[in-house]
Amino acid sequence: DKILLEINNLRKYFPVKGMKGPGVQAVQDVSFFIKKGETLGLVGESGCGKTTLGRTIIRLHEPTGGKIVYDGETIYDNPLGPDGKPLGKEKAVNMLPYRRKMQIIFQDPSASLDPRMTVGEIIGEAIDIHKLAQSKKDRSDMIKELLGKVGLNTEHANRYPHEFSGGQQQRVGIARALAVKPEFIVCDEPISALDVSIQSQVVNMLEDMQEEMGLTYLFIAHDLSVVRHISNRIGVMYLGSLVELGESYELNRHPIHPYTQTLLSAVPVPDPKLSRTRQRIVLQGDIPSPMNPPSGCRFHTRCPYATERCSIEMPAFKEHEPGHWAACHLLDK
Ligand code: SF4
Repeated sequence: DKILLEINNLRKYFPVKGMKGPGVQAVQDVSFFIKKGETLGLVGESGCGKTTLGRTIIRLHEPTGGKIVYDGETIYDNPLGPDGKPLGKEKAVNMLPYRRKMQIIFQDPSASLDPRMTVGEIIGEAIDIHKLAQSKKDRSDMIKELLGKVGLNTEHANRYPHEFSGGQQQRVGIARALAVKPEFIVCDEPISALDVSIQSQVVNMLEDMQEEMGLTYLFIAHDLSVVRHISNRIGVMYLGSLVELGESYELNRHPIHPYTQTLLSAVPVPDPKLSRTRQRIVLQGDIPSPMNPPSGCRFHTRCPYATERCSIEMPAFKEHEPGHWAACHLLDK
């Protein structure tokens, strides 16, 4: 399978005004790849950096360090030195051609759609930026077709976002993303703000679009139960770090990182044989601040298995079984 996107030690820090030091260490040296046509689910509690990671990958946020390769082209490169600091030899390409290929669907559709523009204008704007229409008629045909694709109708083009329900607004957001014929879409918690009753409709629609248009997704969610069925592989984040990544089935059946085990113990398991072995693990304490993350393994302040080594040495993210990666000292045998 062809690799579409690869990130290597990707880092994003947000400096804090009036504060010394690195600031908010939102994404800490994350590495993975996404194959063409697959859905990679990315999960973790709120504040774990998954949204920042999604935005940094498509450079809506400029990375602080690391490397991004898209379809064989390096679109960002700023290697980290031996001291862990970026060497400062930054190479960043102009993103305009990639803006068409790499799209994002936001969590809150009402905040991401301009309230002063009609739905037709919102979708039309995306078409215009990338000069995708040959004529006025072509443009309006494209808008109609997109509205149809996401289950809205032609009259909706003249209405404003506030006239729609949350689910319809998200359909507009999806139509806007699809308007530019993208290849890769960051789906940033696209259903979290929606009514439970329409969540599955939106997920089914995204799956249909993927099949029809050959799309590749990074699907961000705070809950494993949302992504387990639609993802080929799943990555789990904790406090800016990627702690585990594996095939969806394998990761659900056999999680190897203590944090993933905790997350999964919170998901009700219908199989009684499994639920007996899967006792609910309750974590102590809150997530520490990414402004001042714990030394060593970032999970050590809450991990039930933490040893002294864990508070000193950061575990490497390694492939422990074919295709199954994790960062935990316990797994070094
Ligand atoms: Fe827990 Fe240590 Fe593994 Fe971190 S490295 S997850 S603290 S056992």
